Amino acid sequence: MPRYDLEGRVAIVTGAGRGIGRAIALRLAREGCRVTVADLDGDTAAQVADEVREFGAQALALQVDVTRKDDVEGMVNESIARRGPLHILVNNAGIGAIAPLMETDEETWDTLMNVNAKGTLLCSQAAARRMIEQGDGGRIINNASGAGKTAPGKGLPLGAYAASKHAVVALTKQMGLELSDHGILVNCVCAGIVDTHMWDLIDRETAKRQGVAVGSIKAQAVASIPLGRIQQPEDVANMVAFLASPDASYLTGQTYNACGGLLPY
Ligand code: NAD
Repeated sequence: MPRYDLEGRVAIVTGAGRGIGRAIALRLAREGCRVTVADLDGDTAAQVADEVREFGAQALALQVDVTRKDDVEGMVNESIARRGPLHILVNNAGIGAIAPLMETDEETWDTLMNVNAKGTLLCSQAAARRMIEQGDGGRIINNASGAGKTAPGKGLPLGAYAASKHAVVALTKQMGLELSDHGILVNCVCAGIVDTHMWDLIDRETAKRQGVAVGSIKAQAVASIPLGRIQQPEDVANMVAFLASPDASYLTGQTYNACGGLLPY
């Protein structure tokens, strides 16, 4: 059952073909939004759009690479042309890479920064320009990570990922200030250990490096979560739905943890 009144709102969710983005797209649709499901993988985007339509909500699937300015502008323009004025952008598309910083090559660094940080900037710029023209405010919600606030740790070689997610937190803070006169609220979610392909990759690659059993890195990480269970994509979608809702109308430039108590601040 819907908790917030988002009837008739239009939302774009990037990286929505699977994992957390899929859960966000489905949740916003259940709250009454018309959802543009954008992903690098056009097939998975189309599948999620079909799932949205199954319960009677409107969806538009788009194949988009968030690192390409033309793609991003096309995404915003097409969503507006086909679904009406844009109210909500969720910058969720993101990738991980596993390597200690001392072994991180330039290509890995550039790719992570391009998708996670530049992608967030480009999508936010394109969406905010149109929201400013519309003159009715808007919401930009960034999916950073606990790695955007803390170092992942000695045993988790995610340094470049952490740098790119710290950039997302910084973008949230500054963009929240710059867009405040337009009533465009910019906020950020930091999740913990979420049960998706991304954490399977972290587990597999880290286990290989450490010569331990696949599954053991994830099990160890989950054991450290105060609430005692792995996070589900829907736990992140709960926070995003709140930040998109009228109840969040006095919040901007902020970063919120949704992490089962894992993060210290
Ligand atoms: P995932 O790998 O399951 O899904 C990521 C999606 O993003 C995929 O559908 C992929 O095709 C898409 N994508 C990748 N590059 C893209 C690009 N250039 N343009 C458009 N789409 C692109 O990952 P997930 O775990 O669902 O992660 C979603 C977001 O949540 C990421 O930003 C991630 O950093 C963040 N996050 C994940 C966790 C976790 O534990 N899984 C924790 C905190 C934050």
